[in-house]
Amino acid sequence: MAAEEGGSAKTKKTTAKKAASGKPAKATASKKKGKKGSSRKTDAKAKAKSEQQLVQVVKPSEAKPMASVKELRSWSNPDYTRIAISLDREAAFEYHRIGQDQEAKLPGRLYLDINGAKLNSDVKDLPVADGLLKTARIAQYRPETVRVVLDLESIKDYKIFTFSDPFRIMIDIRGDRKTEISSLKQVIEPVTPASAAIIDQPAEKPHKKPLHPGISRIRRVVVDPGHGGHDPGALGADGTREKDVVLAIGLKLAKKLRDEIGLDVVMTRTTDVFLELQERTAIANQVGADLFISIHANAAPNRSASGIETYYLSLAKTEKAAQLAAKENGTSLEKVSMLQAVLFDLMANYKINDSAHLAEVVQKELHKKVDARWPVKSLGVKQGPFYVLVGASMPSILVETAFLSNEKEEQRLKDSHYQETTADGIADGVRAYISGLK
Ligand SMILES: [Zn+2]
Repeated sequence: MAAEEGGSAKTKKTTAKKAASGKPAKATASKKKGKKGSSRKTDAKAKAKSEQQLVQVVKPSEAKPMASVKELRSWSNPDYTRIAISLDREAAFEYHRIGQDQEAKLPGRLYLDINGAKLNSDVKDLPVADGLLKTARIAQYRPETVRVVLDLESIKDYKIFTFSDPFRIMIDIRGDRKTEISSLKQVIEPVTPASAAIIDQPAEKPHKKPLHPGISRIRRVVVDPGHGGHDPGALGADGTREKDVVLAIGLKLAKKLRDEIGLDVVMTRTTDVFLELQERTAIANQVGADLFISIHANAAPNRSASGIETYYLSLAKTEKAAQLAAKENGTSLEKVSMLQAVLFDLMANYKINDSAHLAEVVQKELHKKVDARWPVKSLGVKQGPFYVLVGASMPSILVETAFLSNEKEEQRLKDSHYQETTADGIADGVRAYISGLK
């Protein structure tokens, strides 16, 4: 389908660079009506070829390789709808809001032009229909411009920001949803990576007895082993990979939470697959998780650094926290500061006090359990701006179980008894958190 809406009542230009270092782009409603542009259907492919060649000849300085638009995805969350456009490299883009009429309460459209970009042929329009967004359409609008048009159903606010490595343009739309999110299952599921979210259906559960009736507030927990696939995470001197040890701990933790506490557990991954960071919390939001626990192993340039620490999401308070966040996010410090700007807006929905409390009890119980057998330092509860926790609408923490960069701790992390004990400690923390909610 073509996405040929042209003309603009309100035009905002941004580039990847600007978006990365500056504030998140913020939307303001405009009363002006957008002009309908003329429909320009051309043989985009043929034209693309000739123009691209022309550019290379006439402006050699601008003959940079084109970015490929590789994927268009959406997530319907209770509070917002998120669109992610994935590219294979950074590209400049501009966005426009047209056709809205506040008096008539017409939300109009939002469209975004990505310059210097080619659309992969397998990227298709998305019928979202979740009460905020009708459809997300994508097309090669001009030979070097890919246009994404969002047909809105309702909108209060929107935000556009970018992630890097791989480069992604994210659009979050907030508004008054016309449809209940619970009726959207069939819409949501196809965009969930089938191999990623494993929902533990409470079909057969004779052994699943809740601790006591008072715990019904916490029923479902998402366990998120960090990294995976082509992202190994931290590497130990002995070759141990973070993605492997955290998966082992995560699987053990999931089993304990199910069997010993009677919780439903959803794992973001149960095998060695790569998951985008934003997919992890999207899974948690989609399955209506009550808690989100991301499991990691630490690394530091100083090989003597050791111990256990637990993070919850906030603006980085210390240089060290920002550095760790940069590492876990697979990004630079400079991008962490961009993320901080985005966070100001997201914090409103984030259960910060509950997360801080969950972090406290998990850190305490985990340290107690491990220290009884393997004396270890507690580095305490910390705050950091982790992408993985952004967008989670439930209490969420990130546990750094031990340091892979430390020789002794690397050996421990490989030991299945140590992994088991770590899982026990985290489960104790979850149990203590639930008991404290009565
Ligand atoms: Zn990690």
